[in-house]
Amino acid sequence: MTRLAEIAGRVSAARADAAARGETFYPGPSRVHLAAFPPKERWDDWVELASTDWPKRTERHYMLVPTTCFNCESACGLLAYVDRDTWQVRKFEGNPEHPGSRGRNCAKGPATVNQVTDPDRILQPLRRAGERGSGRWEPVSWDEVLDDIAGRIRTAIEEGRRNEVMYHVGRPGEDGFTERVLASWGVDGHNSHTNVCSSGARAGYHFWTGIDRPSPDHANAEVILLISSHLEAGHYFNPHAQRVMAAKQRGAKLIVFDTRLSNTATHADFWLSPHPGSEPAILLAVASHLLRTGRYDREFVRAWWNWREYLAAEHPELPASFERFETVLADLYAGFTFEFAAAESGVPAAAIAQVAEAVAGAGSRLSTHSWRSAAAGNLGGWQVSRCLFLLNALLGAVATPGGTYPNAWHKFVPRPVYTPPQPPSWNELTWPLEYPLALNELSFLLPHFLKEGRGRLDVYFTRVYNPVWTNPDGLSWLEVLTDEQLVGLHVALTPTWSETAFLADLVLPMGLGPERHDLHSYEQYDGQWVAFRQPVLRAARERAGTPVSDTREVNPGQVWEENEFWIELSWRIDPDGSLGIRRFYESPDRPGSKLTVDEYYGWIFEHSVPGLPEAAAAEGLTPLAYMRRYGAFEVSSGVGQVFAEQVPAGELTGAVEDRFGRVYSPAPRPPSANLAPVATPEPDAAGRHPVGVSVDGLVRRGFPTPSGLLEFYSRTLADWGWREQAVPGYHRSHVHPAELEPDQLVLISTFRLPTQIHTRSANAKWLDELAHTNPLWLHPRDAGRLGVAGGDLVTVETEIGSFVVKAWVTEGIRPGVVACSHHMGRWRLAGEAAQPGQRQAMATVDLDRRDGQWHMARRAGVAPYQSSDPDTARIWWTDVGVHQNLTFPVHPDPISGQHCWHQAVRVRKAATGETYGDITVDTAKAHDVYQRWLKLTRRADLHSPDGTRRPYWLMRPLKPSRDVYQLRSVVSDEPAAAD
Ligand code: SF4
Repeated sequence: MTRLAEIAGRVSAARADAAARGETFYPGPSRVHLAAFPPKERWDDWVELASTDWPKRTERHYMLVPTTCFNCESACGLLAYVDRDTWQVRKFEGNPEHPGSRGRNCAKGPATVNQVTDPDRILQPLRRAGERGSGRWEPVSWDEVLDDIAGRIRTAIEEGRRNEVMYHVGRPGEDGFTERVLASWGVDGHNSHTNVCSSGARAGYHFWTGIDRPSPDHANAEVILLISSHLEAGHYFNPHAQRVMAAKQRGAKLIVFDTRLSNTATHADFWLSPHPGSEPAILLAVASHLLRTGRYDREFVRAWWNWREYLAAEHPELPASFERFETVLADLYAGFTFEFAAAESGVPAAAIAQVAEAVAGAGSRLSTHSWRSAAAGNLGGWQVSRCLFLLNALLGAVATPGGTYPNAWHKFVPRPVYTPPQPPSWNELTWPLEYPLALNELSFLLPHFLKEGRGRLDVYFTRVYNPVWTNPDGLSWLEVLTDEQLVGLHVALTPTWSETAFLADLVLPMGLGPERHDLHSYEQYDGQWVAFRQPVLRAARERAGTPVSDTREVNPGQVWEENEFWIELSWRIDPDGSLGIRRFYESPDRPGSKLTVDEYYGWIFEHSVPGLPEAAAAEGLTPLAYMRRYGAFEVSSGVGQVFAEQVPAGELTGAVEDRFGRVYSPAPRPPSANLAPVATPEPDAAGRHPVGVSVDGLVRRGFPTPSGLLEFYSRTLADWGWREQAVPGYHRSHVHPAELEPDQLVLISTFRLPTQIHTRSANAKWLDELAHTNPLWLHPRDAGRLGVAGGDLVTVETEIGSFVVKAWVTEGIRPGVVACSHHMGRWRLAGEAAQPGQRQAMATVDLDRRDGQWHMARRAGVAPYQSSDPDTARIWWTDVGVHQNLTFPVHPDPISGQHCWHQAVRVRKAATGETYGDITVDTAKAHDVYQRWLKLTRRADLHSPDGTRRPYWLMRPLKPSRDVYQLRSVVSDEPAAAD
């Protein structure tokens, strides 16, 4: 018997056994019973032997309660093992009922238990008891805190200072709850981290499809092209990585563009290590190959590209025929030969030719993905994803099995009980006139805007966000956050201490992933699911028959959760309902009473998730009880080509068609039960509602772009002053070799470590033990030139400062390029301003300002210490890496608004007296660099084609009312109107 046959035999025997017991069989990730999961029928009382008592057979009884992981954006399912004797969580493992992660997790999922038991976590609300940043704190009650914040927000609204209220989120981990809170206050106060993360990639996709994310169907692909380290750390990496590996096992080819030899690159069939920023040149060379050889899907391009609009705008002298367009297209990219791409990228032409052949052979089964990586590194980085999607668009590999979908069709955002109206105000601190096309808030420019006097903040919430550490130019953040004239009240909503929380007025402990409610859905395969993050001890108590009405009853200390916090805060802002806010927080069933989280989620699961009530009823459960028990529900699978669906005749009454086939109806399209709101196109400037697009005589759904088609040509870009960038193109990066001085190298600073995640994982001891340093990757050729050996200290000089770090000499990086992971270098101050903090992962430093410069010097790394966790006395490492981001100035891309992370740097052997972790920064120079990049922009008030601040159809996380899009609009401060 072959090994495979033997395994198959064991699997069917196990399945038969399970069926005989009336249990569900979980074959496990490897389809082998060895990796089986506890059958869900036994989740109320799952028995395991205590490993520490072996060989004595001591039984432990667990209640298994699902939640979702909050350690990255993938939202994988977790199962909490709640000890039935102690009612404490003993461990987390994967939830086999979660359709995205399918029971699997990366190391960060199970390490959630470290975060729950972290001896340094914040357990009660704190108010500063000295100057900001002084390190002195006093306990304060939730009641006092809520009244204080609510009073300030109410006054700001009443006095017409809505724009002084801002909520700045790092990892949202939820789908729209907090945006609706801000909308209910009538405040355009949403700020995000996205412009230091993914807005470059989003812009490239959004200009093509009207939707800002890709959803590759890796599992069914023949060729997978990744511009990222996606198998170890990229976006949705665990759910995607398992599908990429499954595809590889059945023979799919993997192409990886990554300047570093990442773990992902080691699994590739083709690894290209391009000079940073040259990725679009390679992609266009591949596109040119497809065009030259005629190996593209002519029918798809003819039907679904807006080529007529392109010809009319750019070649009005030519006949508007598809054949003519094909000629123009081939000419447009003819200069992108393999040799040209090789000269730009440093990748041999022959290797690019091989990749082009592989892509050509994929047909409609080409799955592609680009997220942060090159799109977040370079000036014009958004063209990376625009050029990548060009390959899908040429091959017709759009929403096909094995192709790439727009994400909104794989995402399910259920309708809540209340939808407050769009806020009647526009905040120029987040959406300034210089960036009318930015995909997200210009969050990382906030310190410069405040310093320039563009506004001030009266109440500033930071939530799971650490801009002092995460953003570039963190010391400019420190300067404004310590200035009470610029920031009146800083409220940090956080489970853990951070460099930013140290500078807050109020530190409010919020629950970790297994201590809070959230609802989310992410694109991870050709299907839609919704998952429920929940406080597991609350769910366990309720399952055992003890109702819980406030999550603080079960969370550690006085740790709360945000849903209940925002409901309570909103209620206190408008206790009598006179501001029109309170009505969004009233129980739908108990008029005049406060909404509970059970009512909020119960209503959604009952009314807004197709199929869930029926599935729940089949098990004798309410929809809420079903989600509390299983944690996730698949709404649909095999979504297919939504854009090709024919529009029903009933929606076409009175419809008109423009000259390029866009079909408008006088009435809005009925909301789709199954598609995220973003999948529905916005009304045009004349108030007409796009319902479809005419293709070969039939009206199809199309894409939510202005034309309804895939926008090879973006009229939006052309109309707003960027005509030269209106089609997928290659524009040299700010770190192109021609931009570098002879002694400069390019620093890649963006890569994640597989076992850490920004600020959120530093309180996980297992992860800290695995990864706690970030040496500088340096090619032997550069090391030889610099006289540096592995382990030597080197000084990296940026435009505004320098940092001292250890060198790691490796052939895993291109000559001329260095790399340093951004996950390391946490710190807390020494001396009088000593803060509490995460002692497992934070160095103790001195920070002072002299001679116009900031200087940071390390006093000590980490060391063993006594705590409630005996493991902290066993810490054997001292290094925690170096905080390089402090030394980076802001580089806002003038179109996408994305911070362009790559740095042109000088690297030298550290001089005598320079020590590990030394950092210098000149924030005056940082402001100069900001102003230089600001000059690259094309302002709305100079380039807007229609007198608005921003194209209305472009996405905004929290979209204000249409009237405030007018450049001359008066910002309203009336209470929000009735919905
Ligand atoms: S950290 Fe790991 S387990 Fe958690 S959501 Fe992300 S990929 Fe999944």
